[in-house]
Amino acid sequence: MWMRMRFDIGWPEVLFGVRGMLARLDREAIEQRVCECWPRPEQMFPCLSVRTGFDLLWASLELPAGSEVLMSALTIPDMVRIVEHHALVPVPVDLNTADMGPDADRLRRAITPATRAIVVAHLFGTRLPLEPILKIARQHGLLVIEDCAQAFVGCDYDGHPDADVTMFSFGPIKTITAFGGAVFCVRRPDLLATMQSRHRLYPLQSRWTYLTRFMKYSFLKGLSCRPVCDVIVGVCRGAGLDYDRWINRVARAFPGPRWLEPLRFQPSAPLWAMLEQRLRTFDPAWIAARAARARRLARLIPRGAICPAGDVPDHSHWVFPVLTQDPAAVIAELAKAGFDATQGSSLRVIDPPEDRPQLDPQTTREVLAGMVFLPLYPEMPRHDIQRLADVLHRLEDHLAIDPNVAEPPARFPRVMMVDLRSG
Ligand SMILES: *Cc1c(COP(=O)(O)O)cnc(C)c1O
Repeated sequence: MWMRMRFDIGWPEVLFGVRGMLARLDREAIEQRVCECWPRPEQMFPCLSVRTGFDLLWASLELPAGSEVLMSALTIPDMVRIVEHHALVPVPVDLNTADMGPDADRLRRAITPATRAIVVAHLFGTRLPLEPILKIARQHGLLVIEDCAQAFVGCDYDGHPDADVTMFSFGPIKTITAFGGAVFCVRRPDLLATMQSRHRLYPLQSRWTYLTRFMKYSFLKGLSCRPVCDVIVGVCRGAGLDYDRWINRVARAFPGPRWLEPLRFQPSAPLWAMLEQRLRTFDPAWIAARAARARRLARLIPRGAICPAGDVPDHSHWVFPVLTQDPAAVIAELAKAGFDATQGSSLRVIDPPEDRPQLDPQTTREVLAGMVFLPLYPEMPRHDIQRLADVLHRLEDHLAIDPNVAEPPARFPRVMMVDLRSG
């Protein structure tokens, strides 16, 4: 089975992490070095997770209660809860299927005198062109926050220079994970200073807490090795257990009702050490290989099949979604062929404020309802990619197909085809 969940970390890095648990480390020096991995260290703000920094951001901004925050309509549930926690009103902006970015017209229409900020999520590995959004934001004096949790492609890129804040995540399922950690680029010095001084008041995460997290994810990494996971999936199926739900639950980093408390810590030294190591040894060729695999698969799947966000030119393909008419059937068939596809159950569509039902993000809802994420990684050999595409061809009736996509160019010029047929 090719699992959907693949931790982007090798065993040597895991060993490095274990060594870090035992070593004497200078926390502040390593924190500084994490910042120095980026082009503008003085603007960088590393913390425990994107959610940690996002919570600090709103706390530091001290916007009046009831202020509205426009958000890409699809994100992880905690991001919405954090905005609400600060007595702000999340307002969804419906996304376009082609780029999974906020639709500019809908964005404009959602702005009211109470709007203060826009949170744009670059989903699935894309880097959206931000200019149209920045232009609208400037006209209305709005803060622009970029969620690049799914869009890390190397420290050379620390976000759009005109965005106010850019956020990168190194959580368990993200590119070059450190099993935790996040780095923000905050381009307003006053805001950065406030966030830093609040952050310094947080208690320190104990080494033990990071160690337990580390062990948990290393264990899961072991389980997601192909032979091991074949056995587990087999046993679960035999026993009628829903391994899909279980995986999604364990992959969530901070579960439970006291969801915000575990976020409000400063990272321990071993986490910094791990993150520094990951950033320093990052190889862009890895992302290039991932994107090349995705482009290959995109060429092989049925023509006209719709891949949400597939039209963005700047795309590192963190995940590979396709739109289907029957996700359950597609997932079941793929599983039979050894491909563990999944629906985006960790993502959530943001509901509009009760008094503005016209802002309901219909397109995003439809995409989330029909979307299936295919397992695809750099180490997947060509013949398995071909096999995956073959399964999708067999399932063509269950896929959402764009009828406007032209026929493939004929292998021979049309005249010659006629000749061949008549001859
Ligand atoms: C993973 C993710 C986050 C949260 O990142 P953490 O570092 O785990 O808090 C936020 N937004 C998006 C779009 C994500 O994919």
